Amino acid sequence: QPVVAVVGRPNVGKSTLVNRIIGRRQAVVEDVPGVTRDRVPYDAQWNGRAFTVVDTGGWEPDAKDRAAAIAAQAETAVVTADVVLFVVDAMVGSTDVDEAAVKMLRRSAKPVILVANKADNTSIEMEATSLWSLGLGEPFTVSALHGRGSGDLLDAILAALPEAPAIVENRPRGPRRVALVGRPNVGKSSLLNRFSGEERAVVDSVAGTTVDPVDSLVSIGGQTWQLVDTAGLRKRVGKASGTEYYASLRTAGAIEAAEVAVVLLDSSEPISEQDQRILSMVTEAGRAMVIAFNKWDLVDADRRYYLDKEIDRELRRIPWAIRLNLSAMTGRAVDKLAPALNKALASWETRVPTAQLNQWLTALVQATPHPVRGGRAPRILFATQAGVAPPRFVLFTTGPLDAGYQRFVERKLREEFGYEGSPIEISVRPRK
Ligand code: GDP
Repeated sequence: QPVVAVVGRPNVGKSTLVNRIIGRRQAVVEDVPGVTRDRVPYDAQWNGRAFTVVDTGGWEPDAKDRAAAIAAQAETAVVTADVVLFVVDAMVGSTDVDEAAVKMLRRSAKPVILVANKADNTSIEMEATSLWSLGLGEPFTVSALHGRGSGDLLDAILAALPEAPAIVENRPRGPRRVALVGRPNVGKSSLLNRFSGEERAVVDSVAGTTVDPVDSLVSIGGQTWQLVDTAGLRKRVGKASGTEYYASLRTAGAIEAAEVAVVLLDSSEPISEQDQRILSMVTEAGRAMVIAFNKWDLVDADRRYYLDKEIDRELRRIPWAIRLNLSAMTGRAVDKLAPALNKALASWETRVPTAQLNQWLTALVQATPHPVRGGRAPRILFATQAGVAPPRFVLFTTGPLDAGYQRFVERKLREEFGYEGSPIEISVRPRK
């Protein structure tokens, strides 16, 4: 269960806020001078999501150095927490003690939500804008006592929490689903035939598996794979079946049903519009992708240099796709297919822990901040990975990002964490 730590000076209203978050009048002890409270965890829930709130309480009241005391408190909190709520008093504004704590929190790379409490009315809310100076972005103004703004705050907490862990499946998973796609005559049937020799044995060994009759179970690289919607490929000899429209629907269906797509291109011909459409289908469906340049046996050395440049240009939008030069006819590099599929699938299912992601992000935006536009530069507050297959990220920002900067973040994200063979999605959630 994810942990949310509530950090702040005494009397900013931490206990009241915790009460508000857990939604019931639990006997949360108020800050009482002279009383040292332990860190107390409470169960909380919002929109069906359960989490633990830790009230970091007070500290030794006779501590000589208050700033050091709160820094120590913040330190403990961030070590154990997934998200930190840093609470300040909207009526007081930020103090030296607050600033000392912020320094600590920022170094931790944990998502920090700035809460300006005691904003019981709009005029106090206005004053809270001065809290931007803390460098934690826009404060969430709330009145823990009256409940003002607490819904928005809870939404922000949920958004910042790491995703609930996937339910662990004990049963071995079935064969991975692969779509073998490409325009007519690129060699799909030929490639399938290379694997089909072992098909009978595979089907027998996976007894009890129900495979859609339009799919084929084949062995590639000693591993069983489910090639989706290959019925047409097996029956057909030579002639393309159906209209192009029908074929394209079928391709879309196969991609949708698959986890990873092998897009076959004909190396002896330029990349066509139809090839590009198929490549786009895979990207838009968010599937892992291996591009197989088939008929490589027809490419002579002279053409290779030119071809590489042409290919880079044509595929500049999908530099992450894994490329293979193979020949269904001679069998060249066909053994590279299974490792490529496995690599693409692993990327597709990669999950980066929130702390690691934010550590990296903090360093990135420090080194290369968003350019200033019209006197303002939106800041990225923190990021979470919202899902896998493909990896999806949400960036929480103080405003919309430039398309160019967003592409820069994606490129850097790939440089850091790989994702070879998989698309990744980044969405930006600016604070209102
Ligand atoms: P499909 O329409 O994508 O299933 O393509 P086919 O498998 O029917 O192949 C179309 C044509 O390309 C056939 O004449 C194949 O023999 C030929 N072909 C397929 N793969 C290769 C290859 O790697 N090299 C060469 N030279 N020809 C190939």
